[in-house]
Amino acid sequence: MIEAFHHPGQAASIGDHTMPMEKFQLVADRVAGLDGVRLLRPEPVTRTDLLRVHTDNYIRAIETGKPRPLAESQKFPWVPGLYESVRLTNGAVAAAASSALSHGIAAAVASGFHHSCAEHGEGFCTFNGLVVALEKLYRAGALRTAAVLDLDLHYGNGTAQLIQDRPWIRQLSVYGNDYWNNVCFRDVTEKKHPDGPNHLSVALPAGTDGPQLLEVLEQNLPWLLQPRPPDLVLFQAGADPLRDDPYSPLNLGAADLEARDRHVFSFFRRHGVPVAWTLAGGYTRPVEKVVAVHLGTFRAALDVHGR
Ligand SMILES: [Zn+2]
Repeated sequence: MIEAFHHPGQAASIGDHTMPMEKFQLVADRVAGLDGVRLLRPEPVTRTDLLRVHTDNYIRAIETGKPRPLAESQKFPWVPGLYESVRLTNGAVAAAASSALSHGIAAAVASGFHHSCAEHGEGFCTFNGLVVALEKLYRAGALRTAAVLDLDLHYGNGTAQLIQDRPWIRQLSVYGNDYWNNVCFRDVTEKKHPDGPNHLSVALPAGTDGPQLLEVLEQNLPWLLQPRPPDLVLFQAGADPLRDDPYSPLNLGAADLEARDRHVFSFFRRHGVPVAWTLAGGYTRPVEKVVAVHLGTFRAALDVHGR
């Protein structure tokens, strides 16, 4: 049985926007009918949880809307209620992380917010739910080491910044769009983000297909098990690498992404490492195409972990 966490209050009303906020509710509705999945409502993370990762100044800006440029640094309009909704989004990630430690697998029907940095937001990401969740469990003594596997189309720059002084977290980010300026169809062949001792990234050239992606995973996933397997993996199972996505230069269909997810779940299951996944990005229209990719991740998890 896979526990999946979602709260209807996660979606603040920011109007019509690139980020299809409705996808989370659509995925939750579909998942609720799946055999082998239990849909649960998470608690919001607390201010104390956020303060371990973000500056007081930034948290206040999201809470109050002032100063406005900081409150909108994530690149969508600030609205009253944003603070509460993001606490629920991060709460879904924290709840899934905790559930995975008990059950081996769990899902957050939420974004991981991997572009969010300590002192400001970026790229539609407000508070970095990945690091907030891991810090919460780390401080509670529930884990000693963790890894983030980021297979969103975009580079996980915020997480990379936040783990620079958290050597107990490792991140592998495999990306086809370097995220700088988020130009549509950006090819990363000539550009790559710098690596650090605990963060490694692999840039996928334009046109990368399913077998090539699996090859990259085959070669690089073992790095996340060094120097010893982590106590937990958070997996950003992004839907934006999809061929039809306006930002994607990759040649990946929905079946290729489902094969990607099956590969990831099988790999960590084989090594006895629990995995909690998040939906991450996805901007293809109509939104049903994005929902289909996220449901493929559920199918892959159910195939590997059983119902
Ligand atoms: Zn993305």
